[in-house]
Amino acid sequence: MTEQGKNTVLEIKNLSVSFHTRHQIVQAVDQLCLSIKKGSTLGLVGESGSGKSVTALSIMRLLEQTPSLHINGAIEFTDSSGVTTDLMTVPERDLREFRGRRIGMVFQEPMTSLNPVFRCGDQILEAVRLHFPQISSREARQRVLNLLESVQLKDPHRAYSAYPHQLSGGQKQRIMIAMAISCNPDLLIADEPTTALDVTVQKEILELLKSLQDERGMSMLFISHDLGVIARVADEVAVMYKSKLVEKASTKALFSQPQHPYTKGLLACRPPLNRQLARLPVVADFIGPGARQETVSEWLDKLSVSDEAIVSRRNKIYGETPLVRVRNLSTWFATKKNFFGRPTAFLKAVDDVSFVVHPGEMLGLVGESGCGKTTLGRSLLRLVEPKAGDVFFRHHNLTTVPEGQLRSLRRHFQMVFQDPYASLNPR
Ligand code: ADP
Ligand code: MG
Repeated sequence: MTEQGKNTVLEIKNLSVSFHTRHQIVQAVDQLCLSIKKGSTLGLVGESGSGKSVTALSIMRLLEQTPSLHINGAIEFTDSSGVTTDLMTVPERDLREFRGRRIGMVFQEPMTSLNPVFRCGDQILEAVRLHFPQISSREARQRVLNLLESVQLKDPHRAYSAYPHQLSGGQKQRIMIAMAISCNPDLLIADEPTTALDVTVQKEILELLKSLQDERGMSMLFISHDLGVIARVADEVAVMYKSKLVEKASTKALFSQPQHPYTKGLLACRPPLNRQLARLPVVADFIGPGARQETVSEWLDKLSVSDEAIVSRRNKIYGETPLVRVRNLSTWFATKKNFFGRPTAFLKAVDDVSFVVHPGEMLGLVGESGCGKTTLGRSLLRLVEPKAGDVFFRHHNLTTVPEGQLRSLRRHFQMVFQDPYASLNPR
């Protein structure tokens, strides 16, 4: 079991994971071999369903042990003192030494990993006490406050006593990171840690992870479907496609000279900023039975929409009567009420906004976190009541139609929410 002087922290050897259901066999991970160098970050990238999360869960031995699960291979973990252990063969009762102790993990969805009914600080405290039963409760509490400070939460005491729902997405992810590093792990596994966050917050979290890594000399397995994010954090990149590893290279080499058609396709699928495409390229354009004959750049040229086509589409769309007209829409939330229950202070989430949307138009609404985008969308559908202004849908004024009519009109507009986990019923 022991081996000295390795320069890798993790070596995955021929990992295969499949789920056997009554109707089919899903091969989630197929003969995967990967290694992570000590102190470095390996980026694991691939489209949704390619097997990234199953790989991460296998390392932590977190896949549910059911008869349908078939798992093979070796996962050799070498700790900071040079002792190598195959995690696949560690008995369940000894796993605690690795899971959460030497290997920390941050998931995509802080809301599904934090318990809503406990204060955030106490949840970290629990992790600390579990792994360090010998320290006093005062010392443990101080340790939690230090952790909250090291993940750059501005007011550690407030964060300690906050419930998860009282914090923003970015703050919750900081809590999760504090929990993951609470035991000074040798390896941090981050599975899409910034996917649910908006770009400005995402950038801060990435910088935080980087600086914590430098400070503590941790190794990191950073999983993402987003090549832009991977490019920022990873030293090396591994690409997974349909449960297999298809390419592994240094970040620089992978981005400048991708070898595998899938990697080339993945790089081509990033929406270009300088031109409009008739549709976004998909990986299937570059790999598999339907692959194009053209090179990536030839294919992008073919998909490009000409300036004339853009102008004629615009003329057509803007020649028609608007479908939706929003006039001076305001949605304010009361933040203070007086003795009589009258609001005395407001948060102006949406304040005097006007615009129109034509049939067939796609209007992009952009702005930083908290600027009112979601409230605007919800106000249009009257999922929150606007304070003032009008929303016309064809000839109906949605802000004044009676509830019954609104319900039948709602069939004509749909909303897709930011957070599928919070909107889908888990049952
Ligand atoms: P990624 O993280 O790359 O998006 P996953 O690792 O979550 O992909 O999933 C890989 C494949 O394994 C997918 O086809 C997924 O549907 C399947 N899968 C994951 N978990 C289970 C499970 N518990 N039972 C059956 N199939 C699963
Ligand atoms: Mg995943």
